[in-house]
Amino acid sequence: MIFYKTQEEIELLRESNQLVGKTLGAITHLMIPGTNTLQIDKFAEQFIRDHDAEPGFLGYSGFPNTLCISINDMVVHGIPSSYELQDGDVVSVDCGVRKNGYYGDSAYTFTVGEVDDDVENLLKVTKEALYLGIDQAIEGNRIGDIGYAIQQHAENNTYSVVRELVGHGVGENLHEKPEVPNYGRRGRGTKLRQGLVIAIEPMINMGVKEIRECGDGWTIKTADGKPSAHFEHTIAVGKGAADILSSFDYIENELKKRD
Ligand code: MG
Ligand code: MG
Repeated sequence: MIFYKTQEEIELLRESNQLVGKTLGAITHLMIPGTNTLQIDKFAEQFIRDHDAEPGFLGYSGFPNTLCISINDMVVHGIPSSYELQDGDVVSVDCGVRKNGYYGDSAYTFTVGEVDDDVENLLKVTKEALYLGIDQAIEGNRIGDIGYAIQQHAENNTYSVVRELVGHGVGENLHEKPEVPNYGRRGRGTKLRQGLVIAIEPMINMGVKEIRECGDGWTIKTADGKPSAHFEHTIAVGKGAADILSSFDYIENELKKRD
């Protein structure tokens, strides 16, 4: 069953999702060679707790950390470790929090030092695909319209869309119905209406769409070892436009300082 949210609940979801954005902004300065990913995780956990919230992923289905940190050919669900970031890495960071009983969920793919132009382009196209998907998240459209827009943009740029992992409803649970695939057909699937809050999260591969699971039971990698990118916003379906509850502004303000 789908839980449609009241405006009051949407405001609580906005607060949680803004905190995710702030957390991702707060770790941006750590995206440099030599930082180990467990350090980034601990920093984020403390930041979330200092803001009267709890990490949303820690302990979720047994996940051991606050952040999913997925490097290069890792698609999603990478586990923070002693791995030290290196020049040229692409680092997708997925963060969840729970505050006042409601979840926030958002992800951003960072670059470390200088990365190849083709990797920069993958990130650019994936982020564009996210916003094209969000443009479709309006009352009267259907879930398939979102996936269609994302898939078209990715494939028009010679990239491929991961099928096995999808976006989802967000609320008092981290993962609610409906599923929000990053591929699809126009006019198909659940009808969108106000009160529906969903995470839209394209996972776009530079090479083949196929993925494989690693032995740690969590990490998902591309089957061909080529890089993958992941951007995610939690949004509320609106009448003429979606209301984006999470934010990349905190990250991008930090990135501007870095450049
Ligand atoms: Mg996420
Ligand atoms: Mg999600």
